[in-house]
Amino acid sequence: MLKKNEIYQTEIIDYTTEGSGVCKIDGIAVFVPNSAVGDRLKVRILKSNKKYAYGKIEEMIEPSENRITPDCDIFHQCGGCTFRHISYESELAFKQKRVYDTLTRIGGIDGSMIHEIERADYRDQYRNKAQLPITRDKDGHIRVGFFAPASHRIIPLDDCMLQSASFRAAIQIFLDWANSENVPPYDERNHSGILRHLYLRYAENTDELMVCIVANAKELRKEKKLVKMLTQGLPNLKTIVLNTNAEKTNVITGDTYRVLYGSGYITDELCGLKFYISPQSFYQVNHRQTEKLYTIAAEFAALKQGEILLDMYCGIGTIGLTMAAKAEKLIGVEIIPRAIEDAKKNAEINGIGNAEFICKDASSAAIMLKDRQIKPDCIILDPPRKGCAKDLIDTIAGMSPLRIVYVSCDPATLARDIKIFAEKGYYTEKAIPVDMFPRTVHVETVVLMSAASRRSRFRVETSLTCDKSSSRI
Ligand code: SAH
Repeated sequence: MLKKNEIYQTEIIDYTTEGSGVCKIDGIAVFVPNSAVGDRLKVRILKSNKKYAYGKIEEMIEPSENRITPDCDIFHQCGGCTFRHISYESELAFKQKRVYDTLTRIGGIDGSMIHEIERADYRDQYRNKAQLPITRDKDGHIRVGFFAPASHRIIPLDDCMLQSASFRAAIQIFLDWANSENVPPYDERNHSGILRHLYLRYAENTDELMVCIVANAKELRKEKKLVKMLTQGLPNLKTIVLNTNAEKTNVITGDTYRVLYGSGYITDELCGLKFYISPQSFYQVNHRQTEKLYTIAAEFAALKQGEILLDMYCGIGTIGLTMAAKAEKLIGVEIIPRAIEDAKKNAEINGIGNAEFICKDASSAAIMLKDRQIKPDCIILDPPRKGCAKDLIDTIAGMSPLRIVYVSCDPATLARDIKIFAEKGYYTEKAIPVDMFPRTVHVETVVLMSAASRRSRFRVETSLTCDKSSSRI
């Protein structure tokens, strides 16, 4: 066991999945936050047990050649970014390795199936969504901020390099109102105060802004004044919504939304289609990378005329709707009612008549569709971080689709699920990591699985098409 407060000279050789540097001292792994692979340094042991230890940089002897100077003053205090201190190439190498190691070790797939990560050309101001906790700084001013890593301490801050530039003015006007009216921030320790979060959304292609205030109240003091200040100051503001969250919880939004201005939603354009986005609905945060992600998903889905597409965890319908023109029928499944309402509206405004949307838990919807004898040719799975429920995988495999396209934001649950799919005869043919979240540890992956047993049928169909065309000649 390494001794607390002891100082060792060492070199950082790897990163954890959370992006902390790792070195080995006397055969024991030591985690050193804010270090970079290749750093030669002195590490002070802070906490230690038999298997591993935590340390901090005591003295840098020779910084890694992968290091860059962080371009944000609060990088080390704020929990938002993990990689502002290493080059983008090193960050991509970390993400590639993370996906490779997880999918090969846990998922059991052949590493040659994993393609090179789809890089992001724009790495700042890419986030179209911000949920900023509200606090008072030490001078008594009401501020928005970010939570420090793994804590509920709010670091006050008025701007962030990851988020859309159009949020800055919205934050400023909101804080001017909050400070002038002295509307108290919420304090989770004693469940007092009013203002919990400022929740902002921006539609990049249409330049539409949404402001949603999350409050421990049904009404705000001088609400009309706030609406006037925001609408006068923000020409691209489309809607203002008040969300009431009176629960003692870390869940950000409550169940009740009241529109204070506009229609309650914004619209964006993605992959050539228009989408309604409500505050309740999920919408991918990085517009440019989402278009790349969906293009890869569409290539993997490789839909042909007459095929049925099932889009599980469809949100507001984006993935399925962008592919619907190629399919005979699209069925989307999603658990949030408002997202399904948006998805239906989205099919309508884009003139897509072959889509059906079902508001249900994915597992029970799949059973229902199987009972209805629906036989999807292709199934898209885009679950939240916890991945797919085991019974959903059973039902899906039982529907015998030709292709499954799995879009995942967590390599670990993806690996667990593709292993289960492999046990059911669905093998991974390709996996492409996509950098949806530059400067953070998060990485998205798109996987194509197909059924070994059904592949022969697939081939026959292909050769039939060839026969037909040759007979026409
Ligand atoms: N495919 C969409 C949304 C992906 S996010 C897009 O690209 O925008 C995952 C979605 O799964 C969210 O909309 C979430 O509300 C939904 N969801 C979470 N748990 C679910 C469940 N058990 N059944 C169905 N949908 C679920």
